[in-house]
Amino acid sequence: MDFEVTYSEAQQRFRQQVRAWLEANVPPGITRIATSPEDSLQRYRELRALGRALGDKGWLYPRAPAQYGGGGLDVDHSIILEEEADRVGLALPPYYDSGGKLGSATILVWGTEAQKQAFLPPIYRGEVRTWQLLTEPGAGSDLAGVTTAAIRDGDEYVITGQKIFVGSDHGADRIWMIACTKPGGARHENLSWFMLDASLPGITVQPMELMGTGGEGGTDPVQKNTVFFDQVRVPAFCLVGGENSGWKAASTHLELEHGAGGRIGRHRVWDRLLAYCQQTKCDGVPLTQHADTRDLLADIYIKTEVQRLFGLRNFWLTYAKRPRSYEGPQLSYCRKMAGVWMTGAILEAVGPAALTTDPTWGAPDGFLELQQRNGIVAVHPGGTADVQRVSMARRIGIGRVAREAPGTVH
Ligand SMILES: Cc1cc2nc3c(=O)[nH]c(=O)nc-3n(C[C@H](O)[C@H](O)[C@H](O)COP(=O)(O)OP(=O)(O)OC[C@H]3O[C@@H](n4cnc5c(N)ncnc54)[C@H](O)[C@@H]3O)c2cc1C
Repeated sequence: MDFEVTYSEAQQRFRQQVRAWLEANVPPGITRIATSPEDSLQRYRELRALGRALGDKGWLYPRAPAQYGGGGLDVDHSIILEEEADRVGLALPPYYDSGGKLGSATILVWGTEAQKQAFLPPIYRGEVRTWQLLTEPGAGSDLAGVTTAAIRDGDEYVITGQKIFVGSDHGADRIWMIACTKPGGARHENLSWFMLDASLPGITVQPMELMGTGGEGGTDPVQKNTVFFDQVRVPAFCLVGGENSGWKAASTHLELEHGAGGRIGRHRVWDRLLAYCQQTKCDGVPLTQHADTRDLLADIYIKTEVQRLFGLRNFWLTYAKRPRSYEGPQLSYCRKMAGVWMTGAILEAVGPAALTTDPTWGAPDGFLELQQRNGIVAVHPGGTADVQRVSMARRIGIGRVAREAPGTVH
């Protein structure tokens, strides 16, 4: 069965238009691995400027409704845009904006009309970048256990608590977060979501350096943060989806984060790995001429292709509004487990060169060394591999009498 999408002539013309625009507007070197903090900031500014330019055309969030500043495009045009962005090594948005993506999708389903008009246009036009803040020191997989408190006080909520493993480098304009609005209340009936200004008094961001960030696009490859809330006063308007109804709204956020949103694009490591093996000699001949390496490369290619096709399938199922079930966590689980497996396979294929950033011995840019770290780290964010397995099992009817339904995304 061929899963590839085919395109009409009009769609192919659109592709040419997008390609020409990207060639004219994407600054050279924008996908580089930053060489210093200053270079990282410069690169981030370039990505944000590109995001605003894409936003002006409705191409930053192509499927989002035009009435709120999105592109209003159908799923096929969206796929073309995502493929063309991927062709130049970028995604949409081209910078880390997980709270923008997941928060806006949740607001579209659960927000009031006034909230849609207030919160969505700046996201879709690239005017703001938003982090998502869910995890706490005592609540990761068990998201329902968050204790950061948001207590109503007149026309405001007062937020106090701590989030961990969140955000990226270079700050955020907005925060999309879940908090406990009824401490001591029944589990799953005491949570609410907020979209708030990240510069409010009482918010402190403390960087934490990780081994890697699991391959999150458009960000420094090692930085997450701890964020502290000390009596932060937030307008009541910022509460999305109803007080204490946050678990319902979480089904939208988590469904997309756990793989239902899919992904359009090639595996970022594959092309470079193949080129490296074609150009690097061992015992006088390129690595690709060694039978063992060839076998490993074939296995790696198969796994990356399976992920690409699952990503394409999920993107289409979700945004063409087709019935879904286990497909989101299936993609997420496969991606995570393949990433770990690939660290071993790549190490075996290229040897210790995969473990160094020194270009004399390793791959250019240290991209293989980065994969070795990210492949392991990526098991954790966006729901761990175990959580994906639990979620998939419930949906295919293992361990539950009634099959669990997927989260609401429209
Ligand atoms: C690189 C990175 C980026 C991240 N980005 C963000 C972000 O932007 N925003 C955010 O809010 N959070 C973020 N996180 C946090 C991430 O979502 C959590 O780390 C994750 O949900 C797991 O929570 P935990 O670390 O508390 O581990 P725990 O939940 O304590 O899990 C510990 C271990 O127990 C296993 N386990 C837990 N429950 C079950 C179960 N029911 N069945 C089987 N096994 C189980 C887990 O799989 C894991 O192996 C990020 C984390 C990383 C590493």
